[in-house]
Amino acid sequence: MKKRVVVLGATGSIGESTLRVARALSDKIEIVGISGGQNVRRLLEIAREFPEAQICAGDELGAASLRSGLHGRDILYGADGLETLASTPEADLVLIAIVGTAGLKPALRALETNKDLAVASKEILVMAGEQVIATAERTGGRVLPVDSEHSAIFQCLEGKDLSTVKRLILTCSGGPFRKASASDLASVTPEQALRHPTWSMGRKISIDSASLFNKGLEMIEARWLFNIPMEKIDVVIHPQSIVHSMVEFVDGSLMAQMSSTDMALPIQYALTYPDRYAGPCAPLDLTSVGRLDFEEPRQDLFPALELARRAGTAGGTLPAVLNAANEAAVEAFLASRLSFPGIWESVARAMDEVPFVEHPSLDQLIEADRAARSTVGDGE
Ligand code: NAD
Ligand code: MG
Repeated sequence: MKKRVVVLGATGSIGESTLRVARALSDKIEIVGISGGQNVRRLLEIAREFPEAQICAGDELGAASLRSGLHGRDILYGADGLETLASTPEADLVLIAIVGTAGLKPALRALETNKDLAVASKEILVMAGEQVIATAERTGGRVLPVDSEHSAIFQCLEGKDLSTVKRLILTCSGGPFRKASASDLASVTPEQALRHPTWSMGRKISIDSASLFNKGLEMIEARWLFNIPMEKIDVVIHPQSIVHSMVEFVDGSLMAQMSSTDMALPIQYALTYPDRYAGPCAPLDLTSVGRLDFEEPRQDLFPALELARRAGTAGGTLPAVLNAANEAAVEAFLASRLSFPGIWESVARAMDEVPFVEHPSLDQLIEADRAARSTVGDGE
């Protein structure tokens, strides 16, 4: 039996890698649904490659153009279309690779309609991790990590009792500014920040990797995926991005997962879990890597980690506020309306200003998200 998979965000970096895995494992994986945003041309090509898949376009205009390119094939579109696609009875698993939080409601719909979820979009777990995990517990759906660090931890934890875990250690490349000074950081341009040393990714996560908010978001993501308190989650800089993360156990044993810097592997493991197959990820030759370095993150220059620790520890609406303010600040930085350090300042200000709710409903989280975005740009 093939695993029937819906890919939300198929035209993006993770989406394209997912299709690469599906092509290589076509006897194990069937793509039954795909969605895309603004890149209608690429979505059309993918739709032609997978003629049986249901398609969801970003908006009505995109849907109309796809319909004419696909001789009247039915096309969904927009936020409602994503929810319809995520709840299709044709699928076993929905992979969410939409940047930001637009994938939250589709993710909940997928679980509510008895599917497994593979989560690349860490933002939805940061915003509403408690709701996503509670929904999965209620429906019996699995929430499988796609992020390479969380896939590594997931693999290291297999068969282990959580009470034997001392801490999770997320590795972090350090991004393009690992060696930068405070004055270098003040004048960083979007072009410089988009140049990641080890991974090729979408624009938003590339900026997050430069500010270290990516790692901050991943700390909170780990807190929910593995049901572990924030104080047991640490970060170490590892510039080669070969050790994807580690688990330290109470007896002093440290387990690590290593592989080439290719998202195909964590994506594949989420799609075929618990089985392993030969796939498109190139084997790792440690002798050609030569050495593996580890160092402390510079928390003073990169306040994202401390802000994320504060938000993850306080819980409630604070992670949603951190995430939304960061999304808005990254957009402002990419449009040259905000300096690079302005991203941290905007997030810190939103965390101080937006009213805190300790046990929020989904609607209160959505309201906190909206309120946080509206603070970004104030006082600049
Ligand atoms: P990307 O920008 O390359 O692709 C995003 C996809 O989402 C595209 O298909 C786009 O059309 C679609 N999209 C964007 N906004 C949308 C909206 N409002 N409604 C519907 N569709 C929309 O991004 P990416 O790098 O593939 O990242 C996707 C997610 O995966 C992010 O949450 C990111 O943090 C996470 N992630 C990415 C990587 C990576 O290597 N790229 C690694 C780990 C986690
Ligand atoms: Mg990651």
